[in-house]
Amino acid sequence: MSYIGRFAPSPTGPLHAGSLVAALASWLDARAHRGRWLVRLEDVDTPRCPPGADAHILHQLDALGMTPDEPPWRQSQRGHAYAKALQGLLEHKDAYPCACTRKEIEAALAVAGWAHAAHAELVYPGTCRRGLGGRAPRAVRLRTCDGHGRDIVVDWQDRHAGPQQQNVTRAVGDFVLRRADGLWAYQLAVVVDDAAQGITDIVRGADLADNTPRQILLQRRLGLPAPRHLHVPLVLGQDGRKLSKQHGAAAIDVRTQDAALRALAQAATHLGLPVTVGARPSAGPTAVSDWLAQAVEAWRELHRPAEPPPAVTRA
Ligand code: GLU
Repeated sequence: MSYIGRFAPSPTGPLHAGSLVAALASWLDARAHRGRWLVRLEDVDTPRCPPGADAHILHQLDALGMTPDEPPWRQSQRGHAYAKALQGLLEHKDAYPCACTRKEIEAALAVAGWAHAAHAELVYPGTCRRGLGGRAPRAVRLRTCDGHGRDIVVDWQDRHAGPQQQNVTRAVGDFVLRRADGLWAYQLAVVVDDAAQGITDIVRGADLADNTPRQILLQRRLGLPAPRHLHVPLVLGQDGRKLSKQHGAAAIDVRTQDAALRALAQAATHLGLPVTVGARPSAGPTAVSDWLAQAVEAWRELHRPAEPPPAVTRA
């Protein structure tokens, strides 16, 4: 079976205990399937990516024995591909320009009596679906209803959590593909690149699971294949929130082999791999690769091989 997996960090800072779990899970799954493993640097949100963070991540991965099978792609160099995909969606009327500011969306939601949680993403009420009414375009959005104006419900399968379903129209509404500040939205960039790189399997943190239906919908609209998905449990900080650089997560220390092995063992434990993995790592220059080889076997025991992905259908 051909398998291509990927780790797709946003290089906003170095690898920490949370992102290492996603990196290790995607690497183990690729190796357990005797597949290829790619790294994609998701630096579309350039202002949030400090210089050097990408090189730091690649160095950490290398020291942890996870070297990508191809030179990493950078989303900051892929604008032409996103523009082409967006053009196709606009031509099919699957996407449309939107003039609304956040304040206007909030006001429209209040008028419609739709409650929303503070700081949560707003469900776009579709104000600009029928035109801009003379206002200047800001963002571009995907239309999340079918040709008859009905809601779009996406059913999908997670290899860990099982069958999933989301009514994309109700849960998120027409979502942004190109932002008002001109930057490409994560949803569009990730879908275009996963297809361009021939990704068959997405293994990533559970915080991204609720993006999956939007990405599947975009894949259908663009006529792209749908990869399989496996979302792994998140590492939470002491405050119960996702561990992140913004909340002070420490960079993975890879200065010594012992430190690298400790970090790997901690990530493996989080992934439910038997603690015996890495309990008594071998010494010497092959210690990290020996540890990883054991971990691949343990991963194989834990996760059944992925079923073939569903066929391409255009929605
Ligand atoms: N770049 C995203 C992040 O770091 C992950 C994208 C993905 O795996 O789909 O949160």
